[in-house]
Amino acid sequence: MSGPGEHNLAVLAERSFERLGDYESLFFEGTWLTSAEIHERSARAAGGLRAHGVRPGDRVVVMTMNTPEVFIAYRAIWRAGAVVTPVIFLQSEPELRHILTDSGATAAIISPELAGLFEAAADGLRIATFVIGGNYAELEAGRPAEIEPRTDDDLAALLYTGGTTGRAKGVMLSHRGLWENGRGLDLAARTTPATRTLLPLPLSHAYGLIVVIAGLHSDRRRVSVLQRWFDPTGWLELVAEHRLESSSLVPAMLQLLLGQPLGDYDLSSLVSFGSGGATLPPAIRVAAEKAFGVTVLQGYGLTESSAVVSAERMPDHRAGSVGKPLAHAEVAIRDLEGNPVPAGEDGEICVRGPGVMLGYWNDPELTARTVRDGWLHTGDIGHLDEDGYLYVVDRLKDLIIRGGFNVFPRDVEDVLLEHPAVQLAACVGKPDAESGEEVVAVVQLAPGHRVSGAELVEFARARMARYKYPREVTVLDAVPLTSVGKINRRAVRDLVGRDR
Ligand code: AMP
Repeated sequence: MSGPGEHNLAVLAERSFERLGDYESLFFEGTWLTSAEIHERSARAAGGLRAHGVRPGDRVVVMTMNTPEVFIAYRAIWRAGAVVTPVIFLQSEPELRHILTDSGATAAIISPELAGLFEAAADGLRIATFVIGGNYAELEAGRPAEIEPRTDDDLAALLYTGGTTGRAKGVMLSHRGLWENGRGLDLAARTTPATRTLLPLPLSHAYGLIVVIAGLHSDRRRVSVLQRWFDPTGWLELVAEHRLESSSLVPAMLQLLLGQPLGDYDLSSLVSFGSGGATLPPAIRVAAEKAFGVTVLQGYGLTESSAVVSAERMPDHRAGSVGKPLAHAEVAIRDLEGNPVPAGEDGEICVRGPGVMLGYWNDPELTARTVRDGWLHTGDIGHLDEDGYLYVVDRLKDLIIRGGFNVFPRDVEDVLLEHPAVQLAACVGKPDAESGEEVVAVVQLAPGHRVSGAELVEFARARMARYKYPREVTVLDAVPLTSVGKINRRAVRDLVGRDR
């Protein structure tokens, strides 16, 4: 048996409080919380969890939109030695049932509007359920608990992913993996002067989770303003009202913000944005840097790598790159046979290091296919340049093969986004008897703009190789997005596959 590890996330949270002391650190819907309140409430909630029978290693579901209780619950669960199991609240009953049975969760912290759905999905399962605003108060009425020792490889979080392409699978992340990756992201954040940040990302997603853990490593008093759920107008109001300096976003959020009347708000406090979770189209980066007067720092990663693999730092930035791998993440580019490819050449991005998941929960076969000799095969295509900067080209499984030619959806989307009327673009392959797959796209227009699908086909045709340009572009009221704000390609495929 190994002894207590050096990377217990509950210890990280406690040290952060000891280092930075008591101050107003979190703002949510009109109320400030101090770091001492968060600390004390989570110590008591840890005691409450223990008193309600939660044992070290137990999975505790947290299912709610962003609220301060999420911050408190994560700390409390780690303090009790249990496993944070965040569940994105947009689940159907069967999906939720699958997650609850698969994870074997013994307790859950949920928001009141989900109580009905949760009760139905958990029918017959023994899960102690605590509703925020209701009996959740019993947890925080507990006696403060000491930190439960954990080893570095003990599970800290079980994140369900992949629900849109099949049954969601649990990704097992360790205390050390999240600790190291959070530290890497904090070191990148330290290169910007920003300390006042707006958090619109769902904390139930790996990206939101790692941003929170990075904050625990900080050497400065950081102030976070939390959004329950991203909405562009609310985001702009909060930045102006609280003179916020940074925000971590996904590209679609940036795109939606760019469609707003920015002149109505004082955004002069902004310094930097983090962007990750999906491809950042170059036109959007340029437009955002100009419109907001910020530097956009890209990061790249996936749930299976404890979120972050690489991150840009200020002022060191290379166009198109997602930065250099973090200190503890080793990146290699391999061809499909698994052989390393030279610098500058595209191949599959493979990652090694403590951040790599311990495996998929209950699925050793899928784990063995995905992590080979310690290397996580990401399914992303990209390359490293001579100086070790990483570039992500696209996802292997999104690649469109049209009449034998490879078309990367990202190239098509980048071109469509150059059109001033286009706010969001999603390109997918549509089954086609002649070419195997046809390149088609859907777009969402910026408010007040008009353009037809046929005009956009022409626009792209004039700018792209003949085999690549989209044969069909459909203008939609809204391009479907996932809960974290990525293009939901499966939903787009379903839409374009349908005969209209
Ligand atoms: P998830 O596990 O939901 O976080 O999804 C991870 C996937 O998002 C990766 O495998 C990539 O395909 C994509 N991704 C994340 N960050 C970036 C980025 N900066 N550029 C391009 N794709 C990204």
